Amino acid sequence: MLERIYRLLSSLKGGTMIPTEIVLNPQSYAKIVSELADTLGYEGISHLQLTHHLALTVSIQHENTDIIVLKEVSPNPCPVCHRRLTFLRETIDRFESDDANQVRCPMGHRYPGELKVYYLSIFQDSALGEKEKPIKVCPECGGEHIQYLGADVMFCLDCDWDSGMEARYRLRRDR
Ligand SMILES: [Zn+2]
Ligand SMILES: [Zn+2]
Repeated sequence: MLERIYRLLSSLKGGTMIPTEIVLNPQSYAKIVSELADTLGYEGISHLQLTHHLALTVSIQHENTDIIVLKEVSPNPCPVCHRRLTFLRETIDRFESDDANQVRCPMGHRYPGELKVYYLSIFQDSALGEKEKPIKVCPECGGEHIQYLGADVMFCLDCDWDSGMEARYRLRRDR
């Protein structure tokens, strides 16, 4: 199970989505803790150690579990200069704590944006052969950096296009 999580987290690297939290049920939590203890050769792993190891908030729930929560601000790249946003985690934090719903790009442009939150299942199969990847070029920007998270879950590393991944909620205060 840890392997799957590592693989999902590493396939998100370089994309516009940032993993922020992992939600587990008590059984999968126990499994991960024991896998990590085996890997590290420790007797027991505290909640804090697990959190640090994954660099994610770890929550235990009974419903909607075994997911990684992803966030992204959109649009990305910047609509003015077409540069990709940098320091995504900070940009998202700032966006969430700011009432103006303005995204700030690396060049200092400010534009209205929205925050999207996705739930990514840990157990969907992320290991795919080349022939199972029907899309190789991004329909939005024409880039060739398509990252697959599952057979029909994919996103572009260069822009905020994705395969219709359904945002669980969006933050955009209309006024
Ligand atoms: Zn810009
Ligand atoms: Zn693209």
